[in-house]
Parts: sequence; structure tokens; C-alpha cells
Amino acid sequence: MPKIAGALSLVFVLAGAYLPYDGTLRKEPPAIAAGAAGGAAPSPGLDARARALAGRVIIVDGHVDLPYRLYRSRDKDGKLAENVAERTAMGDFDYPRARAGGLDAAFMSIYVPARYQTEGGARAFADDLIDIVEGVIRSAPDKFARAYSAAEVQRNFAAAKVSLPMGIENGAALEDDLDSLKHFHKRGVRYVTLTHSRDNRICDSSFDDRRTWKGISPFGKRVVAEMNRLGVMIDVSHASDECFRQVVGLSEAPVVATHSSARAFTPGWERNMSDPMIRLLAKNGGVIMINFGSGFVEETSNRQYVARGDAIDAFRRKHKVDRRDPKTRAFIQQYDSAHPFKFASVEAVADHIDHVVKLVGVSHVGLGSDFDGLGDTLPVGLKDASMYPNLFRVLLQRGYSEADIEKISSGNVLRAWRAVEALARPN
Ligand SMILES: [Zn+2]
Repeated sequence: MPKIAGALSLVFVLAGAYLPYDGTLRKEPPAIAAGAAGGAAPSPGLDARARALAGRVIIVDGHVDLPYRLYRSRDKDGKLAENVAERTAMGDFDYPRARAGGLDAAFMSIYVPARYQTEGGARAFADDLIDIVEGVIRSAPDKFARAYSAAEVQRNFAAAKVSLPMGIENGAALEDDLDSLKHFHKRGVRYVTLTHSRDNRICDSSFDDRRTWKGISPFGKRVVAEMNRLGVMIDVSHASDECFRQVVGLSEAPVVATHSSARAFTPGWERNMSDPMIRLLAKNGGVIMINFGSGFVEETSNRQYVARGDAIDAFRRKHKVDRRDPKTRAFIQQYDSAHPFKFASVEAVADHIDHVVKLVGVSHVGLGSDFDGLGDTLPVGLKDASMYPNLFRVLLQRGYSEADIEKISSGNVLRAWRAVEALARPN
């Protein structure tokens, strides 16, 4: 979840002439609207190839914030208001759209907001979100399946089911107990994003100026070793640069960035990865999974995104209100109508893939949409889980081979995951 998640604006809605979900199933991926990928000339042959490819290859998305979205949709009796086995009116992900887009495995983000670091209850909250994911799978076992290993993703793909592997977003969920990792590993968690928007007990956050540990804490070093031992992937998205460098030095296994883009396009914004960091990540065998958010991929949108977050924070501090307070909501609405947001294009996301490929080759880049975690800030043509074929079309247009696109869409992250599994020695 980024800083501005959950805030919707009518202004945003007006700007989206993107491809809508068209109800087709996997074997017939969605029609690509002419010019949907940013005004390029329509090319029926390429569209068909992109759709067929999305159906044929495994697509793994590194980060989808569905669990927190469902948590927030609960009514007062704890019942989920949304059934993602069917097409949902809200959000970016559901089964029909995943199928239409060719998405085969969506890492469910078990997102623990930073407030639990001070209020307590982080581990229980993570368990609550894991229960939600298990409930989704239980309620539609013909559509969704758990995935505790890279091999399970492949088996589910063969059985035409959408895998829902899990990653905890914010190591605060471990509280200060290393045994929590064993507990979460047993429950199927296969990556942990070390921190989120604030420094925690493990390490420093890219969004926090305190730099509490100047990288990673002594407890964090033990967490990294224990993750290696258990076979849990280390996710460096959200971590500070210094934390990243220390973690790469400590980890015996490749590390991943499940939803980060290239900082070359958003100068000075630490949440994305710099070129030297991407080189180091590649040397380690890891993968950067590109975040689709307009605020991650485009400099103008990024400035707007950051300014908006700062304005909301300033308002909240001044009036001592939280994000869900009606006063904050009214402020956000007013802010958004005064500052129309600039959406990025599918090409802009492809530019990040190009950039990483030019830096380190095609074996270290993947997809980490951040669907359901970005509010309405996604690019035109990549608004939801049905639209991966739009990105494939741009990559084909740019001369990527189908084998390369398969590496980007799943081969690279599955390789890193298997490497982490192979180095594990849980007993
Ligand atoms: Zn995040």
C-alpha cells in the first residue's frame, strides 16, 4: 500500500479511456482497444499475438493488495462485501479479470500498516489477512489455489487455476519474535517485505527520515538469516538504500523487489531503485518486479503523487485527524479536483522494463503491478488484472521475443524463488 492508497477521486475516473474488462475467459484474452496502449497505430496481428501469449505463458504478479481491500470491505459482522470469484464492481483484481488478462499467480500482499508497530497487534492482523486469503481459496476451489512453492504455481497453471501465493508486506508482523517466521512460513507466506512506510524493528524505510538503524538492525540480520534458512524470499521494496545494500551483502539467496520501479525515471525518489542498486540486485541473482503505478513510472506523475501525499500528511498533522476522518476525505476530494492527476501510459511501464534490460539483461526484471494498492493512479491501459496483454503488445512491438516476455512475466521470479527454496535448510 502506498501513501495515497484508497483515496478515489472523480477527477481520476474521468481520465480513463482504457480497455474495459470484456468478459472473455483465458483462452480468449481481452480485445485490445485501438490506441489503448498510448495512441500507437492499431495492429490486429500484434494484438492477437499478445493475447495468445498472455494465455500461453505463466504470468506471476509480485504484489496485489487484495487482502487489505477485502479486509476493508468487511461489514460489521465480519462478512466480506465483495466476492472476487465473480466480477467485482470495485478494485483491480478478481477471478474473471485475472483470467481475461492471463494472470496465473498473484502474490497476495499481507499488508500490515505501520500504525500496528506502535499500537501492537501486527502479528494478529497478518494472521487475519491470511485467513481472508484462505477463505477466498476455500470459497472457490475450482478457481483459486494456494501456492506454497514455485512448483505449485506450475501445477495450478496446468490445472487452469489462479494461484494465490502470499507475501507479508511489513516485517513488523514478526513483532520481536524470530519464531513468528516459522509460524508464517507454515501458513504459506513465501516472502516478507522487510518494512513499509516507517522504520521498524528490522530496518529503515525509504519513506522515513529517521534512519533509525542506518540500514538493518541487529534483529533484522537474524531475520535475514532465518528467512534464508526457511526458504522465505526477502523483499527489499520499501527498504532504504542502505538497508538494501546491507541485505544483499547478508543474504545467501537472491533477493527480490516485488513492486519497485527504476529511479532513473523518478530522480531522487528512494522508493524506486537506482541503477547501481539494480546492478547489485542482478549480481545477486534477484529480480526487480516493476510497479505499474503512474507515480512510480513517470516523473510528472511522481511529483504529483509525492506532493499529494505531503499535502494530505500536512493536513492531518495540522488538524490532528487520521486518514479515514471525514475532514481528511473532504480535503482529499478538494485537493484532487484542484490538481488533476496525470496518468502514465503502458509505454512508460515498458520503458522501465527496457531500462532494466539495458542495464543488466532480460533475466532480472518482472511484473509487480501493485493492483488494489494504488487507488486510481494506474496507467491508461493497465488499470486492472485484465490488461497484461496491452503490455505484452508494446513489448512485442519493441522487438522482445516471446521467450524473453515469458522470462519477464514469470520465468525470472520463479527462478529466484526456486533458488531460495534450494538454499533452504528448514530442519
Ligand atoms: Zn507497497
